Amino acid sequence: MFRMKEDLKRELDLHALKEIYEYMIRRSTKTPFEAICKEPVCDWVIKAIVRKMGTYWIVKKYVRSHNCIVDGFRTHFRKTSSVIIAELMAPKVNWNGHIICPLNIIEDMRGEHGIQVLYTKAWITTQNAEHRVFGKPLESFQLMPSYLYML
Ligand SMILES: [Zn+2]
Repeated sequence: MFRMKEDLKRELDLHALKEIYEYMIRRSTKTPFEAICKEPVCDWVIKAIVRKMGTYWIVKKYVRSHNCIVDGFRTHFRKTSSVIIAELMAPKVNWNGHIICPLNIIEDMRGEHGIQVLYTKAWITTQNAEHRVFGKPLESFQLMPSYLYML
């Protein structure tokens, strides 16, 4: 049960990060919220409806297992949302009052959230988190294109 649609999406984002898959939201007239795995062959699905009296969202259907895994790998997985990682890390940037480094992110995400983050991804996340906290892109942003190729 979720208070708002945003909570539901956020939870999905986190779950997708942990389990390493990508989902997409399907427009449906019958179900107000329906998300499916980006792999067309996959049966993973989550459907949620909003309660009649109120704004709570209830999960109506949830097929937990992904059958899009081939030899232990998901075929199309490419990007992990650095935005959501930045969101998780932003309070720390703020709290410490200094710029976090990618290695901190990798450690923290593994330790606290059980999420594996690649160095390049972590680096971009630092930019994202700093931007979120300090409100402007830093000069180091210009270094990014060379890293983007490695993704
Ligand atoms: Zn899947």
